[in-house]
Amino acid sequence: MEIYVPDIYNEDIYKINYDVLMSRGIKCLIFDLDNTLVSIKEMYPREETKKLFDELKKKGFKIILASNSIKARVKPFHEELKVDYIYSAKKPKIDKINEYILSSKFGLDEIALIGDSMMDDVVCGNTIGITTVLLDQISKAEFPIARLKRIKEKKIQKRLRDKDLFTKGRYYE
Ligand SMILES: [Mg+2]
Repeated sequence: MEIYVPDIYNEDIYKINYDVLMSRGIKCLIFDLDNTLVSIKEMYPREETKKLFDELKKKGFKIILASNSIKARVKPFHEELKVDYIYSAKKPKIDKINEYILSSKFGLDEIALIGDSMMDDVVCGNTIGITTVLLDQISKAEFPIARLKRIKEKKIQKRLRDKDLFTKGRYYE
């Protein structure tokens, strides 16, 4: 069951303590897109996200977007935020993200995967063996596949809560 439990759990990308991540040796941040940076209805990044990413780049972080969405959906974010991107990432499958990691100069202990989906982002990151950061979803609106996964996620979260392994809304670093 630990495959579903993130290393860090927070409200949103603005509440993450990036200095704590840095002090743990994290140098590369891989962000999910849908319901992590924006809702599924937003086609471009928010101003506040641009500002955050600029600050993170200044701190020395390498930022990547890794989304299960298609290229046309992810590309405007890559262009506006000026970061590398992986589209059709097929998370929780690890192949595409692993391919990026192998081509990068980062070790597994230097990378964090940040996203709103326990089933996709947390499982993917934990399978690879990188730091996982789970966030609350930005909006209840979801793509159909994500909606199905969310039903499964709720069941898993209940089991994790009963075992006191993870509780939604109880944030931790
Ligand atoms: Mg997402």
